[in-house]
Amino acid sequence: MDMQTSLLNRLFDSGLLIDTGVEGLYGRSGAFEDVIARFEALVSKFGQDQNAEEIRFPPGMNRAHFEGSGYMKSFPQLAGTVHSFCGCELDHMNLLQCMAEGDDWTKGQDATNIVLTPAACYPLYPVVAKRGPLPQGGGLFDLQSYCFRHEPSNDPARMQLFRMREYVRIGAPEDVMAFRQAWMEKGRKLIETLQLPVEIDVANDPFFGRAGKMLSNNQRDQNLKFELLVPVTSTAKPTACLSFNYHQDHFGTTWGLKTADGAVAHTACVGFGLERVALALFAHHGLNTNEWPEPVREALWGN
Ligand code: ATP
Ligand code: ZN
Repeated sequence: MDMQTSLLNRLFDSGLLIDTGVEGLYGRSGAFEDVIARFEALVSKFGQDQNAEEIRFPPGMNRAHFEGSGYMKSFPQLAGTVHSFCGCELDHMNLLQCMAEGDDWTKGQDATNIVLTPAACYPLYPVVAKRGPLPQGGGLFDLQSYCFRHEPSNDPARMQLFRMREYVRIGAPEDVMAFRQAWMEKGRKLIETLQLPVEIDVANDPFFGRAGKMLSNNQRDQNLKFELLVPVTSTAKPTACLSFNYHQDHFGTTWGLKTADGAVAHTACVGFGLERVALALFAHHGLNTNEWPEPVREALWGN
């Protein structure tokens, strides 16, 4: 049994994660959720001086905003769209017949105006752009959302539905870069507080296809994405638990985001993979939170 399956089975056996029969789609126990809640509180503590505007979007976003974001150009393989039955009674009878015969009944489903959110910050940009130019100094936002990515896997750290907590900075390039730099340092400190081994490295997104290879290389060459890695199921291939992304003017140009003086705004985000951090904690400190090292318990439950 490989290490991924073995950790996943241990998580199932302990009841921390609950098997639904679909890879990457799990129930979570109260103990698992408690770790996520306490970790989020710790993130908020590290981020409290920023005075971020807190916004929570549901895990589905406006399809028009999704289309406008260009996600399908880069990651068509990961996207998930919401479809519904929109037919008449006759269509309904045909649908039930089709299901009874074990045929593919999903072909009769129509696309709704909702797409599953691929990353917590995607719904934010068009909404902020609609407000008009940013105030002096730009904007800083605190987000959290369940996200969907179609990447079924027996690696418990690669889920199809998982939560991302994000801080997003929108403003002048130098402010946005300074934000990302500050979070790379804070993020390291935060994870070290939890007594987890940390490494930060330059990274790239899994852009689709042959043209995507070029985008990936470009992203790497320009140091646009860094990841904070922690070994979860493998020490040779540690898992990205935090990401630090600089989008330059991509979202600013796409959505018409403007700074107070009328320039195209730049954006950057720091994303915390909440399940991945929880899994790293369970993998390193054991499946029983009562037995975690005292300083780790203190950092999470001490206030
Ligand atoms: P990876 O390279 O491992 O696929 P990513 O670079 O695609 O991750 P981002 O798009 O930067 O990840 O997402 C932000 C954060 O969300 C990541 O740092 C990670 O912690 C978390 N994350 C991404 N994909 C998953 C997943 N499939 N399951 C759980 N957490 C995830
Ligand atoms: Zn983001």
